[in-house]
Amino acid sequence: MHEMSLAMDIITAITEDARMRKINYISSIDVIIGDLSNVLADALELAFFYLRTQSSPLINGQTNLNIIRETARSRCKKCTLEFIPDYRIAVCPSCGARNCELISGETFRVESYEGCEIDEN
Ligand SMILES: [Zn+2]
Repeated sequence: MHEMSLAMDIITAITEDARMRKINYISSIDVIIGDLSNVLADALELAFFYLRTQSSPLINGQTNLNIIRETARSRCKKCTLEFIPDYRIAVCPSCGARNCELISGETFRVESYEGCEIDEN
């Protein structure tokens, strides 16, 4: 399950970023997962729940992972119809053309995270 290493990558990257910003606790992380990305949302969540208590001093059992789904959309290059494809390679439901381009749905990225800054006083 490659979601385990993806979850670890997310935790590592955010921990590094938070340290530079003097953030000492991360309360939530927003991740965008496209319907046609190769990431399974449930598996990523499970991996995160497993890792969050032991992988970073800035993250604990209270840290939330918010998964934002991105719907897959294709556009027909012939008739410009936009539709929701079942697969990366899609046939236009209107004109039957096969040269459709995927315009969303492959995204996998951390959108943002929330945390608390270290109180200097
Ligand atoms: Zn078409």
